[in-house]
Amino acid sequence: MISKVLIANRGEIALRVIKTCKALGIKTVAVYSDEDVHSLHVKNATEAYHIGEAAPAKSYLNQEKILEVMLSSGADAVHPGYGFLSENDDFARLCEKNKINFIGPSADSMNLCGDKMRCKEAMLKAKVPTVPGSPGLVKDADEAEKIANEIGYPVMLKSVYGGGGRGIRIVNTDQELQDGYETVTAESIAAVGKSAIIVEKFLEKTRHIEYQMCRDHHGNTVHLFERECSIQRRNQKLIEQTPSPVVDEAKREEIGELVVKAAEAVDYTNLGTAEFLRADSGEFYFIEINARLQVEHPISEMVSGLDFVKLQLDIANGEPLPFKQSDLKMNGYAIECRINAEDTFLDFAPSTGPVPDVTIPSGPNVRCDTYLYPGCTVSPFYDSLMAKLVTWGRTFDESRLRMLNALNDFYIQGVETSIPLYKTILNTEEYKNGKLTTDFLKRYNIIERLEEDIKNQRNDKQIEAVASAVMYSEFFQSKIKSSNTTNSLWKSLMD
Ligand code: ADP
Ligand code: ADP
Ligand code: MG
Repeated sequence: MISKVLIANRGEIALRVIKTCKALGIKTVAVYSDEDVHSLHVKNATEAYHIGEAAPAKSYLNQEKILEVMLSSGADAVHPGYGFLSENDDFARLCEKNKINFIGPSADSMNLCGDKMRCKEAMLKAKVPTVPGSPGLVKDADEAEKIANEIGYPVMLKSVYGGGGRGIRIVNTDQELQDGYETVTAESIAAVGKSAIIVEKFLEKTRHIEYQMCRDHHGNTVHLFERECSIQRRNQKLIEQTPSPVVDEAKREEIGELVVKAAEAVDYTNLGTAEFLRADSGEFYFIEINARLQVEHPISEMVSGLDFVKLQLDIANGEPLPFKQSDLKMNGYAIECRINAEDTFLDFAPSTGPVPDVTIPSGPNVRCDTYLYPGCTVSPFYDSLMAKLVTWGRTFDESRLRMLNALNDFYIQGVETSIPLYKTILNTEEYKNGKLTTDFLKRYNIIERLEEDIKNQRNDKQIEAVASAVMYSEFFQSKIKSSNTTNSLWKSLMD
């Protein structure tokens, strides 16, 4: 049985894992870089060890160093969080070899999921529909061009090893394809040291809808419903919600059955996510499996009532799932906003530095997973995600209004954030009516509308300022009228 977990990560996800371990009486081991000496995950863990310099390659990606800490601290399991080593099958294998329980799928399954082409092939065999595209890897840009002309532009070029929106490009012409091929190759090599490219039909006006997969070591498989993650920028998620406005109970079951087949097809164990694109025509196409705990897992926790980290630990301990699909019911509506440290008006450039003060929103059915505290620092070395703000409601609108109030309550001094952008999005008729597509921001001119909202806010503030000036001057005038001398005016004001 797992008794001590090393968390090979930082930030909000390290804190999230520590929280459940504490609740279960499991000891935790934090690791940290030079940059994270004062971070909360270091303070909150049972033990903490320094593992190197700020740059991820020198610390959070340093497998040997992390293994060394696992062995010397006596940790019997490792939770990789998301990003960093979470989907690195070499690391999972290293843990397996050293008899450390890797909380996630097996190294072999992870290796298969980490290759978008091989994974798509496994899906085709299991009769899970995938996005139409090249039958396998393309050997060079010219072959990609030939296939693009066969399936018709626009197409998506994807490195099979890409992730987090990197190593992926839409191209519309032969020229764009030639340029894009180079960019995708370079991005993929920069991120993971290798590249291999496939061509996919670019599906227009699509929604990103994913399913939570859950499978134990005894072959029991269930899905924990869908999440709609269509509000994106550059193929990266910004706002997620569950349930999806276009998935009814029948559809949920139909795609859910495919998801169970998908998990079995790659012999997946523990929690993972099967991502799909939903075409405007209503068809679902599998795109990839994320072999880890997903950033947006809290919204699924909210509607299922389950603690996903506990579930991960139980599965890793070899326990059979305590429920069947028919025991699982979805309850209410949840939304997550990823609060990023970035400047919307500087093309979403990272905004980093000290945060002298912060107010974290709270209240019934409001959850905020964050590493922020007054006096902390947002580091330029890591992901721009500072907080995940999550709200639940009995209806969608209850959840949405709760989110708007929580966004208003969230005060982060010192850095620019995506909070104003989310307020604008959540107030649009398109969002309220569930008209979601992965190009939502462009399609509905959201940035221009944000500018307009900010201008109006400024006007409102000016009107407020003028109104209060008028109020004060009226107050003064009444005092002047009611007093005979200047002296008595001042005296009355002092009172
Ligand atoms: P999710 O659906 O869980 O958000 P993402 O693909 O956005 O999945 O990735 C999760 C997190 O991991 C993001 O914060 C992203 O920045 C980070 N990430 C993903 N892939 C990589 C990578 N290859 N290198 C570094 N960080 C990554
Ligand atoms: P990553 O590994 O970076 O997460 P994905 O394959 O999951 O890459 O795709 C990320 C996003 O890119 C999707 O959510 C979707 O918005 C867009 N996308 C991916 N493939 C296609 C496609 N074939 N057609 C249209 N959009 C796509
Ligand atoms: Mg993806």
